[in-house]
Amino acid sequence: MIYDSIVIGAGPAGLTAAIYLLRSNLKVALIEEAVPGGQMGNTYKIDNYPGFESVDGFTLATNMYMQAVNLGAEHIADKACEINKTEDGFEVSLTESVIKGKTVIVATGMKNRRLGIPSETKYSGKGVSWCAICDGNFYKGMDVAVLGGGNSALEESLYLSGIVKKVYLIHRREEFRADSLIVNKVKKTPNIELVLCEEVKELRGGEFLEEVELKSGKVIPVSGLFEYIGYLPNSELVRKFNVVDEQGYIMVDESFATSVPGLFAAGDIVSKNVRQIVTAVNDGAIAALAVAKCCR
Ligand code: NAP
Repeated sequence: MIYDSIVIGAGPAGLTAAIYLLRSNLKVALIEEAVPGGQMGNTYKIDNYPGFESVDGFTLATNMYMQAVNLGAEHIADKACEINKTEDGFEVSLTESVIKGKTVIVATGMKNRRLGIPSETKYSGKGVSWCAICDGNFYKGMDVAVLGGGNSALEESLYLSGIVKKVYLIHRREEFRADSLIVNKVKKTPNIELVLCEEVKELRGGEFLEEVELKSGKVIPVSGLFEYIGYLPNSELVRKFNVVDEQGYIMVDESFATSVPGLFAAGDIVSKNVRQIVTAVNDGAIAALAVAKCCR
């Protein structure tokens, strides 16, 4: 059996690709090792997805996933370990099996960038987290720190401010990268304290995190540190095809096709300037329609 398309990754790009492929009457495998939804699923509140003044990420992710499944997407809850080109398309190796597809759409998104200091590994899951919506409740009534100055750091600071006693928002510059609307909201939130022009030097505690030492020497006593310092592309699977740029993002044309016939990419993994749910959805739809054209 050969699928018309194997979609790797069930974030907004992969789910939209699956929906458009299925509506074109194609046979689709959707590979996702984690909970479907990608980063969208771990977002507390989405205020810029058209049609919803405000929606929680889990609901939006579940709706997209159910739409794909109800149309007939075959969700394979496994890890895509390798992609190989064959005469009639591709073979994708999973943990213990191999599936075949005429085309592949890579929508593997990005992973959290980490600080890279040894104490970060020591306190990972014991104070250090990359997901406020998953772990925020553990810190009810306690003080936490959030690291970063982009949309993610500020949005998740606002989310945490409704749960914890106090949020220290640590950012390495005076200016934020996040949209001004959210910056203003953060500045007006009484239990968020801005700690600007500071970087993390060391994390300390016993079994669990107790304090964050900054490069200036200042020490902030917190039980949790939520890191939102950007992302790195999950493009290991396709590096051997020479389709990634120097940052590791996949280079595509206007149909979201790579230079390898039948290999497409969509969403945050693509080399581009704007990474939003709406742009991921756009990429997934265009890639799927291009696949439908070549499978016809
Ligand atoms: P981001 O925009 O890349 O911001 C990362 C932040 O981390 C920056 O403020 C950066 O500081 C800081 N940083 C990077 N490395 C650091 C280090 N080693 N130590 C300390 N700070 C460090 O990442 P993001 O906020 O996760 O957003 C990623 C993309 O998703 C963006 O395109 C964003 O717009 C989008 N997004 C959109 C929404 C929304 O529209 N609602 C929500 C979330 C994310 P500098 O500023 O000094 O470089």
